[in-house]
Amino acid sequence: MLKLFNTLSRQLEEFEPIEAGRVRMYICGPTVWNFAHIGNFRTFIFGDVLRRYLKFKGFELTHVFNLTDIDDRIINESAARGISIDEFTAPFITYFWEDFDALGNERPEVTPRATEHIAEMIDIIAKLIENGHAYESDGSIYYRIAAFPEYGKLSKISFEGNIAGASDRVDTDKYDKEDARDFALWKLVGEDETPGWDAPFGRGRPGWHIECSAMSMRYLGETFDLHAGGMDLQFPHHENEIAQSEGATGKLFSKYWVHSEFLKIDDVTMSKSKGNFFTFRDLREQGYSPLAIRYLLLSVPYRKQLNFTFEGLKAAESTVERLRNFRSLVKESVSNGSEETVGKTDSAAVEAVSVALSKFEEAMDDDLNTAAALAAVHDMVREVNTILAANGLTEEERSAVLDAVGKFDAVLGIFGREDSELLDEDIEALIAERQEARRHRNFARSDEIRDELAAKGITLEDTKDGMRWRRK
Ligand code: AMP
Ligand code: ZN
Repeated sequence: MLKLFNTLSRQLEEFEPIEAGRVRMYICGPTVWNFAHIGNFRTFIFGDVLRRYLKFKGFELTHVFNLTDIDDRIINESAARGISIDEFTAPFITYFWEDFDALGNERPEVTPRATEHIAEMIDIIAKLIENGHAYESDGSIYYRIAAFPEYGKLSKISFEGNIAGASDRVDTDKYDKEDARDFALWKLVGEDETPGWDAPFGRGRPGWHIECSAMSMRYLGETFDLHAGGMDLQFPHHENEIAQSEGATGKLFSKYWVHSEFLKIDDVTMSKSKGNFFTFRDLREQGYSPLAIRYLLLSVPYRKQLNFTFEGLKAAESTVERLRNFRSLVKESVSNGSEETVGKTDSAAVEAVSVALSKFEEAMDDDLNTAAALAAVHDMVREVNTILAANGLTEEERSAVLDAVGKFDAVLGIFGREDSELLDEDIEALIAERQEARRHRNFARSDEIRDELAAKGITLEDTKDGMRWRRK
């Protein structure tokens, strides 16, 4: 059974979703004001591995992953360029998904944008005002922390004593708040100021935290199973999300809270503000492969810090190369003609596969221990390689090994696409090239493309509506 460390209880807990067989989860996504760095991607890849492992365990999934497309940086940068916030964020949203996909992450079911959910935010704020959990001051709306005695239950930060000076993490800004801990839900803006939205409590724009309460409850309901994000989001972001959501509904917001540790560089947290970061694109330009970057970022269990080094990345590069070669070697191996079959206890290869599968699952069940899960994969690879070199594999052994590789990869995504696989967009591109060749009466090239596609199991049909293709 899967166990996860729940930040709420500070305990390893057995994971049991509220509705049997179905998981509803929310992961805080990127602020789309710049390129995401590989520290951000460590957190997002952790989310992807969590997602894939839940599927591996047989759960149906609704996974919501938001894009924060409004915040002070976005407002300032777009104003400086004289463009709207949408115009400013559009290219960064495109780049984000390009990088996210290239790193082998599965797209979550729902990927909402904050600016498209302002109405839901306004509804929650109206409820909070109505039930005394929020108040107006100087035209802005603040959350009244004194009305939510459980405040602090996630981060365990104590606010005893002198509150105003208790922590420099508390927003002691210029506004007139009842309590220094209170945070903005809605910030007043002038009539002509953009961005701004009309609300019953005045024209304004949302504070940062309200968006995640609004988008999670919109798609997952008032109570859902799991909420995750990077460590730094525990406080104040997630603490405030709990206060807003539970303050509005009176119900438990999320049953499990899971937080991943930082990626560091020279033992300092990688961050935009410190300037000590690499984006995915920086590393691609230096020739590193997405698979190696992914491998490196997931190789350390999510609750441990990971220090980025180029030696580590180079080592990951040769590891993923070895894994890919292994899969090709097994695929291309010819049956050794032996009659031994799966199920016979004397197949060392089948035994290695079954040990690896159970160790893999045991490791992942243990709070997603990816390091131990990878060790199980590597043990299998080593043993099967030895057997392959000495005796070859029977047909059954070969398919048992490939089946296990498929299972590992459904969770980790580190073997990469098989060379023989074609993505839909590759196929479309080849078809477009073939049409172009035909237009230029280059039938040799056109036939070559048809043959190339056929060799990969794609058949083409000329229909009256144009060219159609299907996989065999
Ligand atoms: P942001 O785009 O700033 O909203 O951050 C997106 C996510 O990246 C959040 O979940 C952060 O916790 C996470 N994050 C930021 N810096 C790092 C880092 N150095 N290592 C791991 N995760 C990070
Ligand atoms: Zn969030």
